[in-house]
Amino acid sequence: MASTSTFLPPASALEHLKSYKQPDGLSLRSLVDSQAHGGLTYNDFLVLPGHINFPASDVSLESRITKKTVLKTPFLSSPMDTVTETEMAIAMALHGGMGVIHHNLPPAMQAAMVRAVKKFENGFITEPMVLSPTNTVADVWAIKEKFGFCGIPITENGKLNSKLVGIVTGRDVQFRPNSAALSTVMTTDVVTANAGVTLEQANTILRDSKKGKLPIVDGEGRLVALLARSDLLKNKDYPLASKKPESKQLLCAAAIGTRGPDRDRLRLLVEAGLDVVVVDSSQGNSTFQIDMVQWIKKEFPDIEVIAGNVVTREQAAALIVAGADGLRIGMGSGSICITQEVTAVGRPQGTAVFAVAEFARQFGVPVIADGGISNIGHIAKALALGASAVMMGGLLAGTTESPGEFFYNEGKRLKKYRGMGSIDAMNAGTVKGGAATADDVDNAATSRYFSEGDAVRVAQGVAGAVPDKGSLRKFIPYLYTGLQHSLQDMGTRSIVEMQEKAYSGELRFELRTASAQLEGGVHGLHSFEKRLFSS
Ligand code: NAD
Ligand code: IMP
Repeated sequence: MASTSTFLPPASALEHLKSYKQPDGLSLRSLVDSQAHGGLTYNDFLVLPGHINFPASDVSLESRITKKTVLKTPFLSSPMDTVTETEMAIAMALHGGMGVIHHNLPPAMQAAMVRAVKKFENGFITEPMVLSPTNTVADVWAIKEKFGFCGIPITENGKLNSKLVGIVTGRDVQFRPNSAALSTVMTTDVVTANAGVTLEQANTILRDSKKGKLPIVDGEGRLVALLARSDLLKNKDYPLASKKPESKQLLCAAAIGTRGPDRDRLRLLVEAGLDVVVVDSSQGNSTFQIDMVQWIKKEFPDIEVIAGNVVTREQAAALIVAGADGLRIGMGSGSICITQEVTAVGRPQGTAVFAVAEFARQFGVPVIADGGISNIGHIAKALALGASAVMMGGLLAGTTESPGEFFYNEGKRLKKYRGMGSIDAMNAGTVKGGAATADDVDNAATSRYFSEGDAVRVAQGVAGAVPDKGSLRKFIPYLYTGLQHSLQDMGTRSIVEMQEKAYSGELRFELRTASAQLEGGVHGLHSFEKRLFSS
């Protein structure tokens, strides 16, 4: 009978294993350089695990996204009219990222959004719904139906920054005829706080007064903000918030185009307090953009400029020379994009990010991987390839904070999401521009998305819808914590360390065949529910 023998490695072999460092898989360079495949997308490769000797919560995601701007969360929201307006920009900054307000609207409206972000103080409603004494009870019910609340301050002219004359609550309008003027039902004995009050002081006044709403007024008694009891519970600290150290104001970015009127647009944005400008184009290597970047750096040296989009070293070089403080990478990789189909120009995003990041880092210019991010793994891979941050459109559309109303289709709660080069968005920009008045229409930057002489508008994007993703208050912490786990698995404690290891060849990579991609997803089940997080 054959005996079973146990293999025992000699002690010297075990000693050797203790310091085993023989690299497995591929270096970043050989991953990207391999001629066996074409350009890489995020799905075409994986990162091999490293050694873990720290908790995921220790991982720092701090990153420099322009020469001077450092964020604690490396996430930016796209300058798209279904993604970033005031609410999104505030939420992004509160969670340590940054929102880029789109420019498919009149300059004055875009500047008002920037101002609202800069004026935002956690807990205070800086643009409350306001009515005038001549409004009626029916107007209050209409607001209640649309927005779900009916505690509304009343000012002389029904607008913010006008003298506060009363407040109406649900109790004031109950059992009153719809036609009754608010002057006849409003409470005039209003508890207020003075502008400059801290959130903590205001909360105490609100609690002691047992009222639902606390109007904040200036020295002349004009309404400047509102505090709501229902928001008290929601107010929490945002330790990662992106703020200017001097002013404590949230950081705000906005996009502009490369036409003449965009210079005046930028002036308004700067007056409103803008920190970072994104020069928005699908092909950044143009005289129009180079001139614009040079002009901005001369005219507003304190404003950080993110130029783009680029996907090659040559494009990047032109914009770095022009003075770009950061570059935005991606052509044709967005979820709503048909650029590659229409123009035959673009580059697979993984290769584009590596090519530009590797080049730009030699000149101290950070790069942002823009488009094509549909999960946390994609974010981690973009950063491993050398991006300092990711810019997301589709992943952040459909949240409570993205512009637009939810609607139902076949039982699913959805929000609209469209490309800025879609016919839908081009029409809105040139015809309506989100304009509130006829003057605004005149102010809208027309012909942004198509050349003046073009007889036909050629779309480079589509209009669609995305499912309800809930609030960024939960979604961003999910992305943030997931990314910390990803870096932990790679055995790296920070983005800086991860990139050093990736570029030195210590962090290893593996190409992923089509069947490997199938294997890496859920497979072989009859049915399943994919819940991404709970909190
Ligand atoms: P764009 O304004 O850069 O270009 C539109 C057209 O206007 C181009 O023909 C351009 O050459 C021309 N143009 C620009 N400035 C000019 C000037 N000063 N004088 C004369 N002509 C000028 O816009 P775009 O590239 O079409 O992009 C529109 C929007 O769609 C942007 O928000 C962009 O981010 C988005 N988009 C992105 C991608 C992508 O892959 N990242 C692709 C398509 C569209
Ligand atoms: P997403 O995150 O994959 O949805 O891609 C968002 C990015 O797509 C944006 O930040 C833009 O760079 C790009 N983009 C926006 N509008 C269009 C468009 O109409 N066509 C192509 N790309 C677009």
